[in-house]
Amino acid sequence: MHPSFDVAIIGGGLVGASLAVGLAPSGRRVALIEAAAPPSTAPSWDERCIAINHASRQIFGGLGVWDALAPAAAPILSTHISEQGRFGVARFSAQEAGLDALGHNVPLRAIGQTLWQRMLDLGGTTLHCPAQLQGLAVGADDVALTLADGRVLQARLVVAADGAGSRVRELLGIGSTRRDYEQSAIVTAVRTGKPHRGCAYERFTPEGPIALLPKNGGDGLEPTTCSLVWTTPAPAVEARLAWSDEQFIAQAEAAFGERLGRFATLGRRVAHPLSRVLSEQLQAPRVLFIGNAAQTLHPVAAQGFNLGLRDVATAIEVLQEAGADCGAAALLDDYAARRRGDRERVAGFTDHLVRLFSNRVPGLRGLRHLGLLALDLAPPLKQTVMWQNLGYAGSGAETPRLARSP
Ligand SMILES: Cc1cc2nc3c(=O)[nH]c(=O)nc-3n(C[C@H](O)[C@H](O)[C@H](O)COP(=O)(O)OP(=O)(O)OC[C@H]3O[C@@H](n4cnc5c(N)ncnc54)[C@H](O)[C@@H]3O)c2cc1C
Repeated sequence: MHPSFDVAIIGGGLVGASLAVGLAPSGRRVALIEAAAPPSTAPSWDERCIAINHASRQIFGGLGVWDALAPAAAPILSTHISEQGRFGVARFSAQEAGLDALGHNVPLRAIGQTLWQRMLDLGGTTLHCPAQLQGLAVGADDVALTLADGRVLQARLVVAADGAGSRVRELLGIGSTRRDYEQSAIVTAVRTGKPHRGCAYERFTPEGPIALLPKNGGDGLEPTTCSLVWTTPAPAVEARLAWSDEQFIAQAEAAFGERLGRFATLGRRVAHPLSRVLSEQLQAPRVLFIGNAAQTLHPVAAQGFNLGLRDVATAIEVLQEAGADCGAAALLDDYAARRRGDRERVAGFTDHLVRLFSNRVPGLRGLRHLGLLALDLAPPLKQTVMWQNLGYAGSGAETPRLARSP
């Protein structure tokens, strides 16, 4: 007899670990299979900061991790979106949304460590780590999962949280549509000459956006530490990584402009190649997809993890409503139906944004300018975009319960 589980989660990145935390109190027998060994888990625990929106903060509150995360989180009180060489600016503020913050910028490593600690504290999750999923055999009542070391587990439901190159997708022969943006995001940290005052800046340049987000630098009342995400065309990435700190800072300053004064003290630089990968299916018999395994997005709108966390919140909700067989087809269909609208809207919006701002057609420059102005001046449009970015797009019923304000 092989060990048998209700749910086997493949991948313990931010999304898979969030689901394990959410399922821990459910009484279901849950296994988490993660390829990378702790404490480095997972390979994605790098220098990135993640801007989590208001809905994600609500979900983290419901999962019991927000209090532990809060000291590492820098509140985002406003956003400022502009285009190099143009006057149009779009601004959003927490005040106009009636919230204390639009979101929080949190080091990815802090999120990962907090989730894993919470999962260990709650107990009940059987960890297979490091362990790599290598085979899947889907039967009528359960799935047999083979790990690289030859172990076999059985589960009623497999949740694929194994990232953009999902092995589960590959093993099941499920296709994906892929768009290579031929860009990388170079991520690092900078100190700025002027305090950020909780403002997240994004500036579109002909080469791609450069974003500076407030970081919790522990520097008192006027914090000046920011995480920097600089979208760079693929052919220029190696050169930008090889630049001296002085050269990198001077060029980043030139691309961003003078709003935050002179830059200094640079962190490590890491480059992330950017592409969009959309799984053709969100479910298959006894399998569902969440997070980057379901959809991987360009970080331009800072929505990838936020969307993935709403996948998690919906999966938790659907599993709470399930009977004894938590891999039943009706349940998986329900999950896919509840996620479809949110996913299409956010993935579509993100892709349009990348393509609109990386297009050099002259007429489009004017349209972009008008678009930014309209966003700032037309209240209904502004409200729609703002609530979508806060994580509350679509009808209220589509928002998972965990994300709704108490
Ligand atoms: C530069 C950059 C900035 C970003 N900024 C933001 C932001 O501000 N806001 C936001 O919402 N999103 C942001 N994102 C997106 C966000 O980082 C991702 O959406 C999120 O980290 C995806 O998490 P995941 O757990 O789904 O996938 P992953 O992090 O890819 O985790 C997948 C896990 O599965 C494991 N795995 C893979 N194959 C197997 C296997 N066969 N067996 C066992 N385990 C396996 C891997 O080891 C890994 O741990 C950004 C992305 C980038 C690149």
